[in-house]
Amino acid sequence: MDEPRLGQVGLGVIGQLYAGHLVKARGALVVHDLAPERVEQAVGLGATAAASARAVAEACDVILVALPAPAAVVVAMLGQDGILAGARPGTLVIDVSTVDPETSRQMWAAARERGVDYLDAPVSGGAPGGAGTDGARAATISFMVGGDPDAFERAKPTMAILGKRWFYLGASGMGSTVKLISNLIAGLHNLVASEAFVLGAAAGIEPETLLAVFDGTDAKSFWLTDYFAPRIRRRDFQPGFSVDLQYKDHRLASDLARTLGVPLLFNDLAVGVYQAMRATGLGGHDLVESVRFLGGLSGADIYHVQRPGESEPTGAPSPG
Ligand code: NAD
Repeated sequence: MDEPRLGQVGLGVIGQLYAGHLVKARGALVVHDLAPERVEQAVGLGATAAASARAVAEACDVILVALPAPAAVVVAMLGQDGILAGARPGTLVIDVSTVDPETSRQMWAAARERGVDYLDAPVSGGAPGGAGTDGARAATISFMVGGDPDAFERAKPTMAILGKRWFYLGASGMGSTVKLISNLIAGLHNLVASEAFVLGAAAGIEPETLLAVFDGTDAKSFWLTDYFAPRIRRRDFQPGFSVDLQYKDHRLASDLARTLGVPLLFNDLAVGVYQAMRATGLGGHDLVESVRFLGGLSGADIYHVQRPGESEPTGAPSPG
């Protein structure tokens, strides 16, 4: 049997990395994004541009979707020029966007009416090693999948190009649910790590000292070793995973908790902190920007640590 023709809708920070892997593995990929510069970037990798999500669906059998939020997924799936307007029965849509489970179920039901398979298949991490875009770049991500089991089987060859692990979690929406829970943990780890390193800096302790010690203490976590540490070491505050996206994921977890009657005390705190960052213009920065944001509240700077008893700070001044 011929290999399925691959398409992709959404070519942002993470989508661009996936497009690169898919083109390399299959030699062809039909793509669409609302932003022409994103499309150009993917064409530069060897992809073919399509005028709309509908045009992608008309040309392809399997379509990867990587969009920022539920509203974008609804437009790209159900809009006049959306995927379902162009998809033939038997098409498989693998949606790696992080959305709420209700949106996933609505997309699954609308797709089923047209004989199209739709999986919520959000992604995270990288195993072994490499969180966020590092995992996406290394093609080691994990997929959390909800939908029909036979569609999950059909998605495996595509998932295998991009990642190393895929978990079938049950009916439509279950992948999105687990992803929101995963990001609830990751987003809070990030804030707690930021707050702790700011306290360290204020007390005169270099981040490298803390990282070395925490490698062997109960403070160690995947977030600390695989996302936070590499980024603060290379002073990399470009997204990556943006504050806007992390805020969205905490908001979606909050909405889900409300429908289930579950109080989420720490998640709600995270919504507030990431919203405060957005309000000060940091929404487009990587979420580890929280270490500078929280540091700014007390004037403590992890790149400018003054040891007790020293009059001059150690370390180089921080950029920006
Ligand atoms: P991004 O904001 O960088 O990119 C989103 C892209 O979607 C943009 O290029 C935008 O122009 C395009 N777009 C928006 N609406 C569209 C539409 N209707 N039709 C076509 N294109 C449209 O986001 P990202 O970082 O690439 O993340 C994509 C998804 O993956 C998000 O849901 C995010 O939560 C999830 N995710 C991201 C990461 C990461 O490290 N960046 C990791 C895991 C999961």
